Amino acid sequence: MRVFLDHNSTTPVDDRVLTRMVPFFGVAFGNPSSAHSFGAEAAKAIEKARTAVSALVNAEPDQVTFCASATESINTVIAGIQRGTIVSSAVEHAATLESLDRARSRGVSVTLLGVDAHGILDLNELRTTLERGAALVTLLWANNETGVLFPIESVAEICAAYAVPLHVDAVQAAGKLSINFGRHQIRYLSISSHKLFGPKGAAALISKDRLSLQPLIVGGGQERGQRAGTENVPAIVGFGAAAEFALEELGSRMDVVKRLRDRLEDTLLERCPSLWVNGRSSPRIANTSSVSFPGVDGDDLVSTLDALGIAAATGSACHSNSTEPSHVIRAMTGSYEKARQTVRFSVSHMNTRDEVDFAANSIIRATEMLRSSA
Ligand code: PLP
Repeated sequence: MRVFLDHNSTTPVDDRVLTRMVPFFGVAFGNPSSAHSFGAEAAKAIEKARTAVSALVNAEPDQVTFCASATESINTVIAGIQRGTIVSSAVEHAATLESLDRARSRGVSVTLLGVDAHGILDLNELRTTLERGAALVTLLWANNETGVLFPIESVAEICAAYAVPLHVDAVQAAGKLSINFGRHQIRYLSISSHKLFGPKGAAALISKDRLSLQPLIVGGGQERGQRAGTENVPAIVGFGAAAEFALEELGSRMDVVKRLRDRLEDTLLERCPSLWVNGRSSPRIANTSSVSFPGVDGDDLVSTLDALGIAAATGSACHSNSTEPSHVIRAMTGSYEKARQTVRFSVSHMNTRDEVDFAANSIIRATEMLRSSA
């Protein structure tokens, strides 16, 4: 049996999504900018996808700019800040942290808020920081490593009170939580197709004020001048279809996923009481489990599990080639060792109970093997 428990890194394309994409590789291959019926057909499909993506997060279609990845979207927002202070957190995705490094090198000051042992943000610290003024707050909604949720509704109110624009990295939240961009005072939101059973190569920067952003890529004026380059029509169509299914099925998917994730955690904790689940008592997205295994190296556990047919991860996929253990677990626990001993499991509604049981047994077997060979 091969079991994929790494859905926070990426997801398979839903068969129904693929079916909707296929014509746009073939008969409907037009360039959306062309002034003939082939072009018009592609342009119409993009607008349909824009409507579906906007509906997923309760935004307006004209607030959606398609781009190639959420990394691009996050880079675009942060690149727009040329002076002042950007406030973020120590547990962001590399797309944010590395964009913030660039911002620092152009003279922007960056304040990273810490989190407590449960991964929770201190809203009073946010308020105190904003009293000194800021050009942007950028925070993720659901942490990709632990699933812990930041209280974005409260963050949005605080940012509004200090008149500071808020960008939310909702990559792991979209399709797993109900998101109301229209209601909350969130200026910019980034989401990604391949995390919600759509294809890679499509993402969205959703903005209440897109003219405040400088496009990263200039050229042919696509996406109303906000993101040049011929659109990846099949991927955008797939993103739209994936968003449509995610919205329709959000509740039922999350019921399944929560049951599977909790079953995995309960089995592991019952059979190995020395394990530690990071952020277990915090509000979390339903699919993610970050587990620290005392005495076991996380990288060794991931490769042993891979040999047993289980796909899991240490930290985020973007950092999986790095030898540095998770900055998220270090920020939560202050412990390099605990970070090194942590593995993330992320389930989806496509997993089954049998798979989760097989995975739990394999994880226990693998940790015993690694402990006995240490
Ligand atoms: N933000 C978070 C929280 C993520 O988990 C990821 C991907 O892992 C990204 C941003 C980057 O998304 P993309 O792969 O679309 O560039």
